[in-house]
Amino acid sequence: MNWESVIGLEVHAELATQSKIFCGCSTAFGQEPNTQVCPVCAGMPGVLPRLNRTAVEYAVRVGLALNCTITRYSKFDRKNYFYPDLPKAYQVSQLYAPICRDGHLAVEVDGTTKIIGIREIHMEEDAGKLIHDAVSDNTLMDFSRCGVPLIEIVTQPDFHSAAEVRTFLMQLREILLYLGVCDCKMQEGSLRADINISVRPEGGELGVRTEMKNLNSFKAIGRAIEYETRRQIQLLESGKQVVQETRRWDDDAGVSYGMRSKESAPEYRYFPEPDLLPIYIDDQWLQSIVENLPEMAEAKRARYMRCWGISALEAATLTSHVYVAQLFEEVAALSRNPMEAAHLVAGEIMRLMNQTDTLPEDLAVDAKKLATLITLVSSAKINRNAYKEAVEAVFIDGVDPEEYIAQRGLRMVSDADAIAEAVAAVITEQRQAVADYRAGQHKALGFLIGQAMRKLQGKGNPALVRKAMLEALE
Ligand code: ADP
Ligand code: MG
Ligand code: ZN
Repeated sequence: MNWESVIGLEVHAELATQSKIFCGCSTAFGQEPNTQVCPVCAGMPGVLPRLNRTAVEYAVRVGLALNCTITRYSKFDRKNYFYPDLPKAYQVSQLYAPICRDGHLAVEVDGTTKIIGIREIHMEEDAGKLIHDAVSDNTLMDFSRCGVPLIEIVTQPDFHSAAEVRTFLMQLREILLYLGVCDCKMQEGSLRADINISVRPEGGELGVRTEMKNLNSFKAIGRAIEYETRRQIQLLESGKQVVQETRRWDDDAGVSYGMRSKESAPEYRYFPEPDLLPIYIDDQWLQSIVENLPEMAEAKRARYMRCWGISALEAATLTSHVYVAQLFEEVAALSRNPMEAAHLVAGEIMRLMNQTDTLPEDLAVDAKKLATLITLVSSAKINRNAYKEAVEAVFIDGVDPEEYIAQRGLRMVSDADAIAEAVAAVITEQRQAVADYRAGQHKALGFLIGQAMRKLQGKGNPALVRKAMLEALE
């Protein structure tokens, strides 16, 4: 029998708003535990939530980018369950009227385009974090994450392989980053995917699915899908049944295990949230959200090529990540030399990022310093070698470029006498190469210029050195 896996995703993205969804507490990551909590997000009796307008606008941005219908009159509901990380014992979410519906995203997998349906996007609040303390063998609570705005993007069960899922998630991540609505740091949990999987004989009826949680890297997602598909096929082939349940993926062990049978909606006793008004998005509000949509990767690529004559290849590299694109645009503006800025960021900066394992979100290089170096090299104050060296020093140690160049004596030698002296010395010392050149072996020229540069400690103005050498040889 030919088995086919069927996969649907529930992707949670924390929205990058300054404050939480129903109170004014900060959403900043990595602060001391329980320092960003107030009576509202701690679920004290008698408090009233107040909706964050930016959270709604961010959710709508995502809906627009994923070709959804925006619900003009959407509502919140209470999802009731008890868990220690949820002080109110209910989560404010959207069941009956989610903010966006019926969208799709086209993804390219192995040269073919696949349309993935988006069932809905709803808004909700995040829960707190349980931290198991191995020393005291206690479980501790951090309530600071309670009430951080989330969107949950629910796809149709349209995927049939791990590769399709990975490509979709990568594309979704790019969209969220360009929209500026989520920082998408999977390690910090601001982007998390739950994976629903079932298997069926190819083209047959949908099978019973399991849901897998705790996936926090693209690699884990791929491995978990492959593991779960095999597990289900083995069950079915040995005449057993798949049980609908929630499973936890243990990436270190490379296995998943059952956590609990899957709750269905009735068990959550959803009911309309009585403390919040419905959200009405009128034409004017929707229009202003559309007008304020940030420029997406494809539009940026087209603009770089059209306005600045940057090659398609470089434009693709520059827009591979929104933070790389931002760095490039800053350097281009400050140096007023977009072409040179493109070469620098797509070339040397990308190389240094690779070499130092720097993720785009951790890029901290100063655009102003890079722009200074571009000005120096394009006005022939430093040569290409010195430029490269100084770029690396700026990237790795954050040095001041002017100081660095002065201290290292990297300023280019354009002094005609100094160059003539170096050339003359090379001509007397390198008799063989000079003879070779004069006998028609033109590649000897490169060697001779190299020798003259060495005498100038690599700082000679290459155009002037070349000219002087040619004159001397003639
Ligand atoms: P629930 O209400 O239990 O969360 P949903 O119907 O909302 O279930 O579906 C949740 C996710 O599971 C969606 O991403 C959907 O595409 C996916 N899904 C539903 N049925 C299947 C199935 N038989 N196999 C794989 N995925 C499925
Ligand atoms: Mg669901
Ligand atoms: Zn609060």
